Amino acid sequence: MDTTSSPHFCIVGAGFSGAVLARALAEKMDCRVTVLDERPHLGGNCHTERDAATGVMVHCYGPHIFHTSLPEVWDYVTRFGRFGAFVNRVKAVTPRGVFSLPINLHTINQFFGKTFNPAEAKAFIATLGDASIAEPRNFEEQALKFLGRELYETFFYGYTRKQWGCEPRELAASILKRLPVRFNYDDNYYNSTWQGIPEDGYTAMVEKILAHPAITVRLGVRFEPEARPACDHLFYTGPLDAYFGHRAGRLGYRTVTFERGEAEGDFQGNAVLNYGDPAVPYTRIHEHKHFAPWEEHARTVYFKEYSQETGPADPPYYPKRLDADHRLLREYRRLARQEHGVSFLGRLATYRYMDMDKVIGEALAFGGAFARAFQDGSADRPIFPNADAEA
Ligand code: FAD
Ligand code: UDP
Repeated sequence: MDTTSSPHFCIVGAGFSGAVLARALAEKMDCRVTVLDERPHLGGNCHTERDAATGVMVHCYGPHIFHTSLPEVWDYVTRFGRFGAFVNRVKAVTPRGVFSLPINLHTINQFFGKTFNPAEAKAFIATLGDASIAEPRNFEEQALKFLGRELYETFFYGYTRKQWGCEPRELAASILKRLPVRFNYDDNYYNSTWQGIPEDGYTAMVEKILAHPAITVRLGVRFEPEARPACDHLFYTGPLDAYFGHRAGRLGYRTVTFERGEAEGDFQGNAVLNYGDPAVPYTRIHEHKHFAPWEEHARTVYFKEYSQETGPADPPYYPKRLDADHRLLREYRRLARQEHGVSFLGRLATYRYMDMDKVIGEALAFGGAFARAFQDGSADRPIFPNADAEA
């Protein structure tokens, strides 16, 4: 530890969590910050790069649409890049036809062959819901209570089985609550106040966040807990179980893989098409030129997305959070609380299903809280921002 100069902080992970925190510390304190990432690029799972063959900006770890209702987060991200206008309007391809998602008045009228107005549709859907379910305890009950079996089986059962590799009744109801159900013709996938895609991609945005004289970035460097670098405080945004060498077992994650295709012109006419049919092995196809409608490209690149269980060498994507995972999480949190001089934050280190705006908002707030605690000398014990949220 260097006691002769300003404090030195080390951050593991150059995704949004690590980058936003690094910038917050650099702006709030007289300090030096080193950010390291084992990958050869910035941006974590939000990394974007231009496809060499088509010139299209590709979201390398799956499609990322920025959306938020947090004014402080929107103000923050727009400091570091321009957002192109993009509204996610997903279509679901099913054996009964192609429908608009999230479920809205158009979906309902098309699916049931009706011409309902909003009040009629709402009353009709209420008759389909399972009234015997008072308080939904899981994903399936949430769907059956509010949508009924036919919509559930067409749009959610097969997709969710493929996506999560388990029965929907094993999953939390909160996963389904991510999607709105609307009784008007609004087919925007999100309810958020602001939505868009950074014109130069997410990686360029993260590069700007990290462009500060107090911040040093080291890519292609893997952090090993047993060879912890000398620093005044460590911030870890990697997987929580990996920090402890998986000694209590592995937290459950789904990973995804992509099968690339290339075509002339327009392949599917939309950024995202979802496939709820269990007979189709992939969950969705994303065609990335549609995420940047302000650009023109003669050729197009698209990806079929497959979901599977995470093996030891696979990148963890979606935290499953089944009952056994919660037990393991409690054990890892207990171990973490015995550590000194380390904080755990971000999607992987807190084992939560977090969108980019939540990750950014939390890193911003945490940077401020940490700076105050460090100056008071009370930042030695491990800190999890919002540790118990959703736990
Ligand atoms: P990450 O981006 O995962 O970054 C963690 C970094 O830590 C990684 O770069 C990793 O290499 C590094 N690291 C880990 N361990 C080590 C180690 N030991 N040594 C060195 N480096 C290490 N959010 C949205 O808002 N909109 C979307 O449309 C959206 N789509 C998504 C689609 C998919 C398929 C997935 C999986 C997520 C999506 N998200 C979306 C969520 C978004 O990806 C996350 O909120 C965000 O990436 C979390 O940032 P993070 O910095 O916490 O984690
Ligand atoms: N989902 C589904 N069918 C769809 C889209 C989503 O069953 O066509 C379910 C699925 O379980 C998914 C959850 O709803 O995990 C939340 O959807 P969202 O689009 O938010 O998932 P993301 O890929 O962004 O995590």
